[in-house]
Amino acid sequence: MAAEKGAPNGDLGAAREEGPGPGASRLRGCLRANLLVLLTVAGVLAGVAVGLGVRQMPRELSATHVLYFSFPGELLLRLLKMIILPLVVCSLVAGAASLDPAALGRLGGWAMLFFLLTTLLASSIGVVLAFIVKPGEGASPPKQLGQAGEMPPSKDVADSFLDLIRNIFPSNLVSAAFRSYATTYELLPIKKNLTDEQGVTVENDTTLKVLKGGEVEGMNILGLVVFAIAFGIALRKLGAEGEILVKFFNSFNEATMVLVSWIMWYAPLGIMFLVAGKIVEMEDVVALFTSLGKYICCCFVGHAIHGLLVLPAIYFVFTRKNPYRFLWGIFTALATAFGTSSSSATLPLMIKCVEENNGVSKHISRFILPIGATVNMDGAALFQCVAAVFIAQLNSIPLNFIQVITILVTATASSVGAAGIPAGGILTLAIILEAVGLPTNDISLILAVDWLVDRTCTVLNVEGDAFGAGLLQAYTERTEGRMEAEELMEIKTDVADGVKGVHTEEGSPLIKRGGPPRLVRINSCEKESVM
Ligand code: ASP
Repeated sequence: MAAEKGAPNGDLGAAREEGPGPGASRLRGCLRANLLVLLTVAGVLAGVAVGLGVRQMPRELSATHVLYFSFPGELLLRLLKMIILPLVVCSLVAGAASLDPAALGRLGGWAMLFFLLTTLLASSIGVVLAFIVKPGEGASPPKQLGQAGEMPPSKDVADSFLDLIRNIFPSNLVSAAFRSYATTYELLPIKKNLTDEQGVTVENDTTLKVLKGGEVEGMNILGLVVFAIAFGIALRKLGAEGEILVKFFNSFNEATMVLVSWIMWYAPLGIMFLVAGKIVEMEDVVALFTSLGKYICCCFVGHAIHGLLVLPAIYFVFTRKNPYRFLWGIFTALATAFGTSSSSATLPLMIKCVEENNGVSKHISRFILPIGATVNMDGAALFQCVAAVFIAQLNSIPLNFIQVITILVTATASSVGAAGIPAGGILTLAIILEAVGLPTNDISLILAVDWLVDRTCTVLNVEGDAFGAGLLQAYTERTEGRMEAEELMEIKTDVADGVKGVHTEEGSPLIKRGGPPRLVRINSCEKESVM
């Protein structure tokens, strides 16, 4: 796309000769530069139209037909998922190996601080909105939603956090590529002797919750991220000996990005069928909205406030750049997040978008975005807070100040453990409910509408990562600019002190100076330059 942006120059001249004025050719150049975004917008709109059209057909499609109909969308998902593993591992190894440890620590530290604060902000918005809108008061769950499947026994908070730590340190890297660790419980039927009021012992059927550990389907992306960063740092420590491997990961990464740029052109079509397929297969939305409408709207409004006002405002305050132009640049990735409901699947396109449209350097995007896609979930934290307050209201359980703070903190912390996959946040919602003593069975209600809420939630999750990368880019530009200026000042002073007027081969009076070779920082990499 970068090439496309440059391409119109040649065409512009030709267009001028043929007749259309500069306005027409500027419009053509603008269309070309934004072609992919426009195609994506068209894809989403066409998806809605096609989906509604197919729903109106007199004969309802069978489940098999819906599957066939959604096939092009499924293909996009498969392509994106295929690219996640090489992309995350190679970009993080190469990124960690090319940044010097101080820069790595600084970048990582700022990124974590941004992720933490924005997630906390999102959680607060969720809680405040839920208290204002009161979605749980007067909500009447439709019958089939109230019994939406048997919920497995809820997980203890301690077990959830232990699982998070276990996943950070995978015992087998190969299996981490497709499996993660999760504690599960088995309910064993047992007979228990109970003594009633009259002192008579009666046998009672009950169940015993037995803890079972084990691996479940799904990539352990957190473990891979941590391993890749540690491996990159180790490679850098090796110095010259590790260079070959760094080059290997760098070229692997570049080749992966070429694949991503091909997949990108398929995204509009894939998104169209993902959206259309979902509309065709969805249950009665009117029924959903009449029963759980306030909850759904509360989540949507919260996501909109955080994504369209709070994050852009933070970006503007720190960079003084137009945040909505930044959002336009990542529109294809946002639409993909909406269509796929998966931060991980959106990662490849997001990296491409921020680099090519928003000028974020590779060092930053390929290092920060994989981490963000794994640990930063503003949308998930927000909807979890709304859901927790909603469930409390539904059961007429008043929440005190300590419980509200507990919801905020656990939502922020547990969103780190939420996987970037569809309904990833639902699993960690149980942690919050357990922490404040709310009934976990009501998760089935949240699950019934999650296919809808999860879409805006995922858009917000990935938007937060992208703004984080944009802010870090501005931060490094500023610090690099300052360092360069300081360096120039230093050299100028030296020149003024001794070798004034001596011109170098490069013809600059500023560069010639004596003394040993100095290190000059270029784009966060140290390069040796003899001055
Ligand atoms: N689907 C979300 C994501 O991939 C996770 C969630 O369910 O909140 O980011």
